[in-house]
Amino acid sequence: MQIDPISAFKDNYIWALRNDRNVAVVDPGDARPVQEYLARKQLQLVAILATHHHADHVGGISALVAARSRGIPVYGPKGEPISTVTHRVAGGDRVAIPELDIEFDVLDIPGHTRAHIAYYGSKMVFCGDTLFACGCGRVFEGTPAQMYASLQKLANLPEATLAYCGHEYTLANIGFARNVEPGNAALAEREREDTLTRERKRPTLPTSIGRERATNPFLRCENAEVDRAAARRLGKAVTDPVEIFAAIRDWKNKY
Ligand SMILES: [Zn+2]
Repeated sequence: MQIDPISAFKDNYIWALRNDRNVAVVDPGDARPVQEYLARKQLQLVAILATHHHADHVGGISALVAARSRGIPVYGPKGEPISTVTHRVAGGDRVAIPELDIEFDVLDIPGHTRAHIAYYGSKMVFCGDTLFACGCGRVFEGTPAQMYASLQKLANLPEATLAYCGHEYTLANIGFARNVEPGNAALAEREREDTLTRERKRPTLPTSIGRERATNPFLRCENAEVDRAAARRLGKAVTDPVEIFAAIRDWKNKY
């Protein structure tokens, strides 16, 4: 099985999980680039997985389903209003795609939205808009504590796990992270590498959980330099990682 990125809108990625005949897509916000991909690669769409209800992640589902002669399963979070979802799932559920010989565990990762989920299996995690390369999603519907716990859940997956995020935000995120943690050598190295990748017009994704632990300030709220940055921002000492996370997230919102 292989994973292809399908670019959509300005900076979204729709992830395509495929073998030589079948494909499943994650978060198809737009049907057109998926349909072009299916035609070009001569692949049959067998399932759709959605991580959360935002239109740039689910807006293409109805057209993709309508274009199929037979219905296909559409998986999505139980706790969110997505009318096109046929199989509502939540943390602890498993999603099997027999045509691709793959199974995922569903993880609850609320915060960006109320019931955001991730799909984890075969050393991969499809995490939508919760974890980004060197960043994280905005906290729209949940609380900072929920978002922090969700990011910790992802950070605690094995280091080699590849994270397939919903957007190409990496260079902007690294620019911000360098302000939070200017002394982080791994982050400086990452900036060099990912800048080259983007100059070659390649995706910086997937990233790995190990790489995120080493460079993503939102996963490093217990690191002394991140704590000092949060304290400067708040004008007082902070020790609670959720408070540190909230301060860094608020800073990024205004950055
Ligand atoms: Zn979103």
